[in-house]
Amino acid sequence: MNNSPGQLIVLAGPSGAGKTTLAHHLVETFSSAVFSVSTTTRSPRGSEIEGVDYFFTGREEFLEKIENGYFLEYAEVHGYLYGTSRERVRSELASGRSVILDIDVQGALQIKEAFPVSILIFILTPSPDVLASRLLGRNTDDPDAVLRRMEVAAWEISWIGSFDYYVCNRHLEDSMMQVESVFSGERLQIAETSFPPEIRAFTPDRFIGREYWNGKSVIVTSGPTREALDSVRFISNRSSGLMGCSMAMAFRDAGAEVLFVTGPACISPPSGVETIPVETAEEMQKILAGEVEKADLLVMAAAVSDFRPSAFHDGKTERSGTVRLELEATPDILEELDRTIDCMCPVMAFSLEFGPDGEKRALEKMKRKGASAIFYNPGDVKGTGMEASSNQGRLIFTDGSYLEVKRSSKRYIAELLAAAMGRYLMKGNEG
Ligand code: 5GP
Repeated sequence: MNNSPGQLIVLAGPSGAGKTTLAHHLVETFSSAVFSVSTTTRSPRGSEIEGVDYFFTGREEFLEKIENGYFLEYAEVHGYLYGTSRERVRSELASGRSVILDIDVQGALQIKEAFPVSILIFILTPSPDVLASRLLGRNTDDPDAVLRRMEVAAWEISWIGSFDYYVCNRHLEDSMMQVESVFSGERLQIAETSFPPEIRAFTPDRFIGREYWNGKSVIVTSGPTREALDSVRFISNRSSGLMGCSMAMAFRDAGAEVLFVTGPACISPPSGVETIPVETAEEMQKILAGEVEKADLLVMAAAVSDFRPSAFHDGKTERSGTVRLELEATPDILEELDRTIDCMCPVMAFSLEFGPDGEKRALEKMKRKGASAIFYNPGDVKGTGMEASSNQGRLIFTDGSYLEVKRSSKRYIAELLAAAMGRYLMKGNEG
């Protein structure tokens, strides 16, 4: 895995809006961008080249590929099948390149579902007349076919709300600049890029141990969990998922393969990690039970609900009078894993505690849960902890050593914690 993972950028919108030209413009402008060559059942047109414009194939073969899970997404467009190779996209992203997809709206929606961090750009002409005249001007469709394409366009436009960006392709030069801006802007987002390496170069001692994670396998849990009261209501907590997300990025950037198991958090999972969304404490526990034996570290940054309603009401509870809630404790994920798994990997736990005995309780928690380290953060410090962008606290290890972390951004703290955990395990401490 490259240190700066690639992005998945999808250009979609009606045929004739100019998305192919814009997609190729991105690939020509940015050396880190590659064009995703689709497979299609339609025949080559004019100057189209096999393997450059499309991989042309028969319908039978295409259907077989669907069966074999070859496609990341596919759709029938204007009577022909089109699809994107899962493996090609995966390998390009893993080597740090961004993949540019020029596909239809059905495909774009499938991509967003599978990769919530993908970037969808909707390309449209300034008016229906311009679209119709561009389609007629291509001389590839008769007037009836153009009419059908216009009908499909109306359906595609109804999905505009699912897109991240909109480019009205009035003047090609302007549209080119706009897609370039999206590409560059997205790569500059702190959440998506690697932590600036120069920060480590200035203060290398703080990051000793980071190298331990290269090629290792790390599971990071994140976000809150939810426990349902009825079909529409739940109890949960204020965790935004930012600390867990930052931990995943820190291990990813250090070269680890990261499995990110997240509850319903406010922020999107980072790119370049495998994400498994879960809702309840029990679901999280089930996923982890199948993964911890293969991992080199489990980072429990999720704020797992400690309680759940004793009973679930199917449907929506009517508003009337007083409703009494009875809660029961959810399974303690770490204790349960420690008890049932033969070869438990080292664990880094997180503990948000209030009051003067907070640290004592965090230490007890570390012992009870069989963790190698625990990051204790006092809940009473304003502007830190849940829902905040900063944190502060102490990473305490089972041998009594600790790392004091002053108030800083969660992204920075995650870098420090990942390195400190690596230092600890490098010394041969297995927890
Ligand atoms: P054309 O046949 O004119 O090249 O493409 C017809 C439509 O199919 C265009 O909207 C194009 O973006 C879309 N398309 C091309 N490749 C794919 C693909 O792999 N998946 C999906 N869903 N649509 C595609």
